[in-house]
Order: sequence, then structure tokens, then C-alpha cells
Amino acid sequence: MTMTSLDATNVPLHELVPGIRVHEIVTASIPGHVSELLVHAASSRSSVIPFGGKRSIATGNRIEAAHYGLDLTGLRGVIAYEPADLTISVWAGTPLAELQAVLGEHGQEIPIDAPHPDQTTIGGLVATGFAGPRRLRSGSLRDLLIGCAYVRGDGLAAKAGGMVVKNVSGFEIPRFLHGSWGALAVLTSVNLKVTPRPRTEGTVVGAFPDIATATNAGHALIASNQAIQACVAFRRGRVFAVAVRAMGRAAAVNETMTSTVTAVGDSVEHLEGNQSMEFWQELVNRFAENPDRIVLAIGARPRDIATLAAEVDSVFGEMDGVETMVSPGLGVMRVSLPAPDDGVGPMIEAIVSIATDHGASWVLESAPPSLRSLAPPWGPVPEGVDLMRSVKREFDPAGILNPGRLFV
Ligand SMILES: Cc1cc2nc3c(=O)[nH]c(=O)nc-3n(C[C@H](O)[C@H](O)[C@H](O)COP(=O)(O)OP(=O)(O)OC[C@H]3O[C@@H](n4cnc5c(N)ncnc54)[C@H](O)[C@@H]3O)c2cc1C
Repeated sequence: MTMTSLDATNVPLHELVPGIRVHEIVTASIPGHVSELLVHAASSRSSVIPFGGKRSIATGNRIEAAHYGLDLTGLRGVIAYEPADLTISVWAGTPLAELQAVLGEHGQEIPIDAPHPDQTTIGGLVATGFAGPRRLRSGSLRDLLIGCAYVRGDGLAAKAGGMVVKNVSGFEIPRFLHGSWGALAVLTSVNLKVTPRPRTEGTVVGAFPDIATATNAGHALIASNQAIQACVAFRRGRVFAVAVRAMGRAAAVNETMTSTVTAVGDSVEHLEGNQSMEFWQELVNRFAENPDRIVLAIGARPRDIATLAAEVDSVFGEMDGVETMVSPGLGVMRVSLPAPDDGVGPMIEAIVSIATDHGASWVLESAPPSLRSLAPPWGPVPEGVDLMRSVKREFDPAGILNPGRLFV
């Protein structure tokens, strides 16, 4: 692998996504390529943006130009799979859909719902640390991570954890790297616990007059039925609804669907099997990063989320094209707005102020480049930021990995 020697006056040539450019893209096809690049980058103080599917490359503080883009999609495929042990080890650049297809042959899966699984890589998923509505019962990828191989910002290659479900000694480095946004280390492979794939699934969607009533109905349903795997209240235009997902054996799914129908009333839609699966995939895709829309995620106490959702909803008035999704059990609300250049600024300000009043956190997950400055992308600076900075210095002493992307 050869790398160009760079000077700061070079014009960045390659556009990773609109507005983010790098001088050179290096594709890693073995972990050694990652170490080689990072050793070189650390000694020459050259910035590096590691990337997989580029689905979230513009989220957070935008790095407009870097020396290197490190393409990890060449590190792809299964390294070891033990269906009987419910564990798998994969290269970090493996797309989620490819991993699910391999597991599906053995009636197993990774129980997460991520947008655009054909592009999203497993390394990107671990690095961003986001989770969709299935987190309600299945947790996030953090709960499934049992080991990983990674290269630190100084080029040192290391391994942590292993292929057994119970790792009891040492630091929990794999979980530590979950949500680190590629600012501490580059993951080259990931070991995960897997779960049996549910035999079948079904979804009930019921209409409600407003978002608060829908969210409260969702709370009641989740509390009354452990078989509900995901539940969201959502607004699409002027329509408010609750969607409930049941997964498992046919009899249990039918029972949950029947009791949900009774609880949500007359105006009900039933989706079974693949239709149900497609409904949820389409729902999470609608709230993924999109250069034409603003997506704001708010995290609050679950008990506050219905009130917060109602206050946020009142900001939109008669505006067209608004979509919201509230996970009552998780206390998460995502808002997606069309992004014209005028008028949306005061709306974002109002939403951020409501979130702040409720002691909620928020992240500006998506916005066109011209509107990125509407709010600090990561919301309020978290407590412990000094500790985070010292961790960054430990893993990446030269500060070359995604510099400035997080608040460290
Ligand atoms: C608006 C929005 C909504 C989302 N909703 C959900 C959801 O409902 N459910 C869900 O599961 N996820 C959700 N996500 C996260 C989504 O799944 C991510 O887009 C995806 O995980 C990114 O994968 P990628 O391969 O495209 O990573 P990229 O976009 O290529 O990279 C994302 C970040 O991870 C870093 N990175 C990538 N690969 C590595 C690696 N191997 N080692 C170290 N760092 C790396 C990059 O430097 C970058 O900082 C959402 C994201 C956004 C922006």
C-alpha cells in the first residue's frame, strides 16, 4: 500500500459525501493496511476519516477536509461462526444485510433495526452506537458485543474480549468503543452474540387523535404485554398512530395482535410476516440521515416523553411534511422536517428549548450543509467531557482520528 506524502496546501480531491473531502482514499483489505496508514498518519500528523457505508459520515461536527479517508468496506465477510454457541466474528466493513443473510441460514439474527442495512456496516453501527425501536426488548449492539480487534490512533493493533458470551476479566474495551464515532480507534473486526430469529411477526397500527394520546397508549401497551418487541407512536403529516410489533411463535404473535387491536380501537391496520418487517424497515429508513431533511433526536425520561412530544408537536402548527417518531419505552423522540432555508431555524430553536426545559439531551442527526449551524450537533456539552478528552489522548495521542468530530 502506498501513501502520498501530503502538505497542507494540497487541495482535497475526493468528496466522501457532499461537503466532506479528503486528499486521498486508502482502502484497507487486511488489518495491516489500517495499522500502516495510522502509523504513517500519526507520525505526519495527518487527519484520517475512517468510514464504512457513509450513511452517518456527516452526522455530528462536520470535518470539511481531511488528509485521508480510510475505506473499511474491503474488510468484509465472516471470520468465524459458531451457530451452536450463538456467536459470530465478522470483519468490520461487512454490511448488516450480508451478516443477517448468513445468520438467517441458521435461523439466527442480530436483533437490531438499522436504516439501509445493505450499506450500513457492522463497524459503523458499533462506532455510531445508535439503535432503533427494537432496543426496547433486545438492547443495543453494545449488549451483543463480546469482542473486537481494533487499531488505535497511534497505529497499535490490539484485541479485546473474545468469542465467549461471558468475559469476566479486564476492561470492557469493546463496549467502550461502542459510540466512539471512530475518534478513538478503528475497528477491524467485531465479535457478537447472536439470537434465534423469531419464527414469525406481526404489526398492528392504530390511529389516534394526537401524539400525546398515542404515546400514552404505547406506554400502556408496553407495560401490559412483555411479548411486544417494539412500539412507537408516530406522526406522518397530520396523521397520528401507534405501531406495535410482536415477534415469536405464531400463537403468541396472534395473541398479542388480538389484545393490541382491542386496546387501540377501531381504526386499525394489520401487517403480517414480511409486510410487518418491511413496515419497520421503512419506518427507520425515514429517519436516517438525509441531506434534504433535518433530523433531530431527543432523549428524555420515558415518563416525560408524552408531554415533551406534545409540546414539540405544537411547534409545527399546520406545517406540511413533518414526521415524528416517539419510542415511549425508550424515551426517545425523532423529528424529521423538510429543510427549506427559511423558517426552520426558529422551529429548531423552539424544540431545543423544550428539550432543555425537560432536562432532555438532543442530537442534530441530519441537516443540509447550509443549516448545520442551527444548533450544536451533539447538544449540550456532557458532564465528564474532560475525562473524554483524556481518553482520546490515550487512544489517539496525535489527534488524527476524526479530529473535532465529537466535542473532544
Ligand atoms: C438520523 C439517523 C438515524 C439513525 N437511526 C438508527 C436506527 O434507528 N437504528 C440504528 O441501529 N441505527 C441508526 N442510525 C445509525 C445508522 O445505523 C448509522 O448510519 C450506521 O450505523 C452507520 O454505518 P456506516 O457503515 O454507514 O458508517 P459511516 O457512516 O461510514 O461512519 C459513521 C461513523 O462511524 C465511524 N466508523 C465507521 N466504520 C468504523 C470502523 N470500522 N471503526 C471505527 N469507526 C468507524 C466513522 O468514522 C463515522 O464517524 C441512525 C443514524 C442517523 C444519522
